[in-house]
Amino acid sequence: MRQSVLATKTLREAPKDETSVNAILLTRAAFIDKLAAGIYSFLPLGLRVLRKIENIIREEMAAIGGQEILMPSLLPKENWDKTDRWDHFDALIKLKAFGEKDFTLGATHEEVISPLAKKMVLSYKDLPLYLFQIQTKFRNEARAKSGLLRGREFSMKDLYSFHASQEDLDAYYQQATAAYFKIFERCGLGEKTYLTAASGGSFSKYSHEFQAVSGAGEDTIFICDNCANFAINKEIKAETPACPACGGMGFSEAKAIEVGNIFKLGTKYSEPFDLKFKDQNGQEQFVIMGCYGLGPSRLMGAIVETSHDEQGLIWPESVAPYKYHLLALGDEEAVKKAADELYNKLIAENIEVLYDDRALPAGQKFAEADLIGLPWRLVVSEKTLKENSVEIKKRAEKETKLLGKNELLATLK
Ligand code: ATP
Ligand code: MG
Repeated sequence: MRQSVLATKTLREAPKDETSVNAILLTRAAFIDKLAAGIYSFLPLGLRVLRKIENIIREEMAAIGGQEILMPSLLPKENWDKTDRWDHFDALIKLKAFGEKDFTLGATHEEVISPLAKKMVLSYKDLPLYLFQIQTKFRNEARAKSGLLRGREFSMKDLYSFHASQEDLDAYYQQATAAYFKIFERCGLGEKTYLTAASGGSFSKYSHEFQAVSGAGEDTIFICDNCANFAINKEIKAETPACPACGGMGFSEAKAIEVGNIFKLGTKYSEPFDLKFKDQNGQEQFVIMGCYGLGPSRLMGAIVETSHDEQGLIWPESVAPYKYHLLALGDEEAVKKAADELYNKLIAENIEVLYDDRALPAGQKFAEADLIGLPWRLVVSEKTLKENSVEIKKRAEKETKLLGKNELLATLK
């Protein structure tokens, strides 16, 4: 991508109406643009990050048998009356449409997936079933001051599992937990993310959150001093003095961002929607359900909160909008020609590169490259041409290196 035509304008100053690090940096680097509190547009660079995160999630959901679907966002009140959530789910954004009929914008989809599954599940032979979607959710969040961490319109992956037995749900819950850790690892948050016991509801003692340690987090967790990656949410700490995983009593307190949340629903939703299957003996039984939420846009915000410096963003390679940022410095024809050539070679090799081909001072190009935060910076200048080489530098490191042209193409992949 040539930066001269990229739909973007980086800002030197922090936007006045943002206080969170993720919103400030992502706005300055033109990854997102705020329309109203908690409501953002994703610009070309930002959308590439979001899509990469979503695709990592897609791959890991497919790996545990998830089949992708897409449910509607306009949801009729009747479904919510069945579960008694129309009046009790505070975050619902309600509206009248089609001649005074009551609808809500989708905040979560148990009320849609349960009657949908009823059409697919007739007998034990149809189970288990795993369906997920990646979709925009709408919630009436009271405080929306944390940028992508708490949107009023935000992206969520929600997976729902359907089982014939509790044991089958329990086994799948373990598989989903492992898949979630793979996702956070691939997004660069693996070491910071803790499986965290939280309150469970009527069908199991605990639900589990995935909490990424960050000062920007709204949650407080107690990390077990004994387990590798287990914590307890402060909400249940008083009633949970010992670690549920190992029984240990020593904990370290930390602020964290809830990046995912998994739940054993049992028959909470299959009962109101009469979601039953015929077992091997021909007896009708309620389907046992689990649900598994994860927010790609919140995850993007969490990556920024945990990976940046004074100069700007620092993207892990797996989710960076482009892997390389090629800068042509100075206005000599030879530099421009060499940089163009390198750019075309990279494109021909299918290597992701953002090419700063604009006529701007070197200082400004360096500053913007640091702000945008692509993993690798490549510089072509009069100086590098004299050495018949290209300068390469990792965003997260200070050291620069000169690589000869042939060496360079072998290195870049
Ligand atoms: P929180 O306690 O932070 O409000 P929640 O318990 O309401 O989260 P869930 O309903 O379980 O969250 O949603 C599943 C996932 O969707 C969360 O783990 C998070 O990654 C994401 N998510 C939830 N609310 C938001 C939001 N307002 N903005 C961005 N992502 C969100
Ligand atoms: Mg919430």
